Amino acid sequence: MSETIRDDDATTPVTSPSAGYQGQPGSFSARAAARCGRPVPYPSFDRLLRALVAGEVDEAVIPAATRVAGPVLEPLEALARTLSAEALRLVVADEIEIPVRLVLAAPRGVELSDVREVWSQPPALRQCARLLSRLDAVPLETHDTAEAAHRVAALGGPRAAVCAEEAALESGLVILEEDVSDVRPNATRFFRLVLGNGAEVLPTIRVLRFAGARLAAALSESGAEILALPGTPESPVNGFALLSAAALPKATGLKARAGETLLWLGPTPDHVPPPRLKDLPRATEVRPPTVVAVGPFVVGGGHRAVIAGPCAVETPDQVMRLAKEVARAGATALRGGVFKPRTSPYAFQGHGLEALAWLKAAGDAVGLPIVTEVMAPSQVGPVAEVADVLQIGARNCQNYDLLREAGKTGRPVLLKRGFGTTVEEWLAAAEYVLEGGSRDVMLCERGIRTFEKSTRGTLDLGGLLVARGLTHLPLLADPSHAAGRRELVPGLARAAWGAGADGLMIEVHDVPESALCDGPQALLPEDLETLLDEFGFLPGPSGSVERVRRAIDRIDTEIGRSVSRRLSLCRAVAEIKRGSGRPIRDEAREATVRARFEEALGTDAPSASVLADALITLGLKAEGWKG
Ligand code: PEP
Ligand code: MN
Repeated sequence: MSETIRDDDATTPVTSPSAGYQGQPGSFSARAAARCGRPVPYPSFDRLLRALVAGEVDEAVIPAATRVAGPVLEPLEALARTLSAEALRLVVADEIEIPVRLVLAAPRGVELSDVREVWSQPPALRQCARLLSRLDAVPLETHDTAEAAHRVAALGGPRAAVCAEEAALESGLVILEEDVSDVRPNATRFFRLVLGNGAEVLPTIRVLRFAGARLAAALSESGAEILALPGTPESPVNGFALLSAAALPKATGLKARAGETLLWLGPTPDHVPPPRLKDLPRATEVRPPTVVAVGPFVVGGGHRAVIAGPCAVETPDQVMRLAKEVARAGATALRGGVFKPRTSPYAFQGHGLEALAWLKAAGDAVGLPIVTEVMAPSQVGPVAEVADVLQIGARNCQNYDLLREAGKTGRPVLLKRGFGTTVEEWLAAAEYVLEGGSRDVMLCERGIRTFEKSTRGTLDLGGLLVARGLTHLPLLADPSHAAGRRELVPGLARAAWGAGADGLMIEVHDVPESALCDGPQALLPEDLETLLDEFGFLPGPSGSVERVRRAIDRIDTEIGRSVSRRLSLCRAVAEIKRGSGRPIRDEAREATVRARFEEALGTDAPSASVLADALITLGLKAEGWKG
C-alpha cells in the first residue's frame, strides 16, 4: 500500500499512494500510473482490478481510449466484469491524458530496410498502418508496447517494435524512426480508479456495449453526463463513456440504480455519423452490422447462413423430405414458396396458406425456421403469423405497400433485388421496410436482367459489393434464380461466398424433373451437402459420422500439402543461408514460429507446442542441420 518517502524539499514526510497498472515498466500505462503515485505493474487488467478491490494498491490506472483508435475495450470490459462479480463501488476519480509518441525501434545493427516483423500491441499496430505498409513487414501482436520492445530485444533478428521511446531505450533497442503514428499528436486517455469507502454515495459503473445512437440521444436528454470518445473511419461506432446517468429514460428499458454510473461504448450523440445516403437514413445508417437471428439461422456481422429448400411447397410429404435433407446438409433455414409469382397466369400458383402449414410442420420437425414469400399486402398478416421470415420477391421489390406492410409485422424480411432495380433503388426498398418498423431486413441479390440470355439472370456480385459499402444490413445471394440451371449453381455460390456474401439462398429438390416450379435450377440434396461441406458447414445432428470424417480427411490433405510445401521452403532457406554463410539454426526464428502457432491456436497451448516442435524438427532436418 502507501509508502512513506522523503521529499527532499519538504520538511515533513509525504505519503505516496501506489498506483497499479497493466503492463511493463516503460509502457504508456506505467507512465500514467507514475503520474498518480508509485507505479505497480500487473500482468492483466482483471488481476489489476482485483488488486484494487483487495486493497493491494490505492489506485488503478487503466487506458480508456486513444485519440486515434478510440476506446480501448479490453480494460473497460475487465472493469465491467469486476464490477458485476464484486458488486463494487468504484469511482473514476480522475482522467489523465498521456501524449503518445510511438517510435519504431530495433536491435542494434538492424536497418529500416531489414525489418520483416513489427511487434506491438494491437491498437498501436492499428495506429501505424502507413508505416507497416511502407515497410512491407508482418505485424505481430503483444499485450503492451513495452513487452514488444522486450521481445524484439530478446529475439534479435530483423525485427522491430512500435513502442514508447523509454521502453525502446530500456530494452537496449535503437530508434529507427520517431513518431510513427498515422495521426499526430496522439494521446491515450486513462481513468484513475479508486475504491469508494462507503461513506460517500459513490456511483457504481456498468458497461453497456453498442447500444444505438437513438439511445445515446435519449440519455443525453435525460441529463446524463457524456464523455465523448473519438471513432475512426473504419470503425465509426467507436464509442464514448457515459458517466453519472442520473436517470435513464423509460424507452431504454434499462434500470438505473441511484447514483449509478454507466460506461457506454456506443456512438456519441453529437457525433452520430451521417447516413451514407442522406435520403436513406435507416438503410445506410453508419452502425455496426445488423445481425438477424432466428433460432439456428444467424446472419450478418460475420455470421453466415444458408437458406435451402424447394422453390415451391408441393405436398406435405415433399416438403418434409426436403426439410430433412437440407437440415442434414447443414442449412440453417428452410425455404418454400406457397404463393408463387409466375410469369404465366396458367402456371402453378402455389398451394397458398394450406401449404404454409405443411412448411411449418416440416421446419418444426427438423428445428429450422421457415422462409416464405408474400406477394400482396393482404397475405402479410396470415403468413406472418406462421412464417419466421417473410420473403419479398424480385417482382415485388418496389411494391411499396407490400414493403411497408411487411415491415409492420416485426418478422425479419428477406428482400430480393428486382431484375431491373439499381443498388440504390434496392436500398430504398429496404428503407420502406425499415420505415415500416422492422429492424431485421436482409437483402438478397438474385440476378439482374442483362443482354445475356444463356443464364436466367446475371448474378451481380459487383452490385452486392457496392451495397456492402453502403449498408449495415446482411447481404445474401441466390445463385439458383441467377443461374436458372443446376450446373451453374455451385460455381455462382462459390463466387458469392468468396465475395463475402453473408448468406446464400439455394433451391433444392430430390425429384427435380417432376418439380412444379424451377426444377431445372434445383440442386440435388447430395450436391447441396457437398457444397456446404466446402463452405465448412457442419451436418445437422442427423448428419453422418462419415460426413464429418470426410471434412477431417480434407483438412488432413490440406495439412499434408502445407507441410510438404513448408519443408521445400525450409530447403530453399537453407540454400540461401549456406550461400551467405549464415548459420542454419536460428533460435530467434524458432521462437517466432512458436509464437505464431500460439497465436493461431489461442488457449490450446499444448497443441501449439507439439506442432511447433514437430515442424521445427522436420524443418531442421530438411535444412540438413546436423546439430
Ligand atoms: C423464389 O425465391 O422462389 C423467387 C420467386 O425468387 P425471385 O423473387 O428472386 O424470382
Ligand atoms: Mn424459384
